[in-house]
Amino acid sequence: MKEVTMYKCSYCNKLFSSSHECLAHEALMFNLSLEEYEKWLKLQEKAKQASFNVTVVHNEDNIRIVDETYRNMLAFEEKHNLTDSKIANIKQKHFYEASR
Ligand SMILES: [Zn+2]
Repeated sequence: MKEVTMYKCSYCNKLFSSSHECLAHEALMFNLSLEEYEKWLKLQEKAKQASFNVTVVHNEDNIRIVDETYRNMLAFEEKHNLTDSKIANIKQKHFYEASR
């Protein structure tokens, strides 16, 4: 028996045999290069982690870090014209097109 690893698009459930292909597919829907998309994911992860940390230890340092990580993430989104409503539209459209 052979075990096979597949990667699934976070938005439309399409399957890929490599993480690279899957990330490229997700990047394309946001009109980002793979490098840009990976950077965005990292910024999101940092902001999420910082938000969690500040709920565990609510001190000045952690509040400053939350502030910083969100500012970095929002600056990226602004630069790439990814407002919340636009992101929601893209996800909805992508899911709809994939499920047809
Ligand atoms: Zn997809």
